[in-house]
Amino acid sequence: MEIRQESLKAYNTFGLDATSKGIISINNEQDLFEYLVQGLSPSKILGGGSNILVTQDIDAYILKNNIKGIEIIDEDDDQVIVKVGAGESWHQFVLWALSHHLGGVENLSLIPGSVGAAPMQNIGAYGVEQEAFFHSLNAIDMIHGIRKTFFKNECHFGYRESIFKNELKDQYFITHVTYILSKRNHHLHIEYGAIKEVLAKNEISTPTIRDVSDAVIEIRQSKLPDPKRIGNAGSFFKNPVIPISQYQDLKSRFPEMPSYPVDELLIKVPAGWLIEQAGMKGYTKGQIGVHKLQALVLVNYGGGQGNDLWQLALDVQSKVLEKFNINIHPEVNIW
Ligand code: FAD
Ligand code: NAP
Repeated sequence: MEIRQESLKAYNTFGLDATSKGIISINNEQDLFEYLVQGLSPSKILGGGSNILVTQDIDAYILKNNIKGIEIIDEDDDQVIVKVGAGESWHQFVLWALSHHLGGVENLSLIPGSVGAAPMQNIGAYGVEQEAFFHSLNAIDMIHGIRKTFFKNECHFGYRESIFKNELKDQYFITHVTYILSKRNHHLHIEYGAIKEVLAKNEISTPTIRDVSDAVIEIRQSKLPDPKRIGNAGSFFKNPVIPISQYQDLKSRFPEMPSYPVDELLIKVPAGWLIEQAGMKGYTKGQIGVHKLQALVLVNYGGGQGNDLWQLALDVQSKVLEKFNINIHPEVNIW
């Protein structure tokens, strides 16, 4: 077992420099069992580092998940059940599904990070969340080294949430995730955002799975800062969900406020709009800031500090609270 003393800079998409007790590659379950018997602690599990904010040097061993493999374990005329190593890149898995003409994942094209982190926050985009085609996951208990399978009802998936982000935080190392993908009669979700407009612009009237994926990629590349050029972790905050009564009050004061109904009692308000109205879009302080096109994205232009980014996040939070009396919460995991 090799423990590498390396900066975390190349291991998080904010590009933040920090030390740790050492980085250990986990290439298979055996590597993890070997690590656990050493009794080294504490530890933190790392995938692609695209949903973490490193605010300080980390007093823990970093377990870098590299467990690979994509295997069809069952299939019938309609669907396949596919088991994926948690260290596979999410987007590579999407590309694999597309090349096998399998539907389900296309709206989640180009999301950075690993397959193992997808259930962590139930990744979602363009009206689809991974729970829609999730079957189960395999994990190893970090204290007792015992294998456990979690089925969908045990994962408590919610909007950018799961049991692994809450009650079971840091307690299980997810090693494999199993998904059910469609071979035929797949229902495409194209109602969301600009998907329909992009398909129309590209003169596609009967889209395929790949057409939807291509449209999502086109939209994302036009709107989102590429972490390879500007350090970021995607949406920093979750969109708040507020009671109808609060929404009605706000709507009378801010008639142009966008909103999306969640159910009869709750309404989702885009956090990006709230941040923009609170005057923080494009705000820059030294090497960090709020992105000028996407107010939901905090950025490190290079050389910024994690703790300063966290202070900026708190400032953004309090500006929104002050103006709208809405508390916005980070989606990103704070390390
Ligand atoms: P990491 O950042 O490495 O880890 C995130 C958390 O999961 C950490 O707490 C870590 O300890 C834990 N974890 C990671 N792997 C495991 C494992 N195997 N077992 C147990 N715990 C684990 N997210 C969306 O939902 N939708 C989007 O559309 C989206 N777009 C994005 C766009 C950009 C440009 C960026 C930078 C990020 C975006 N994200 C989006 C956020 C991010 O890509 C996802 O949350 C992704 O799933 C994180 O994967 P990761 O491997 O990088 O996780
Ligand atoms: P957008 O299309 O500009 O929309 C702004 C917000 O409004 C989104 O956050 C979205 O909520 C909500 N929204 C838009 N249309 C909706 C509809 N028809 N029904 C319900 N809610 C709607 O958003 P964007 O920033 O370009 O992102 C596009 C998609 O990619 C979104 O789904 C977003 O979540 C996802 N994304 C996520 C991250 C991340 O890091 N988590 C980063 C980039 C993009 P939802 O967020 O709930 O979908």
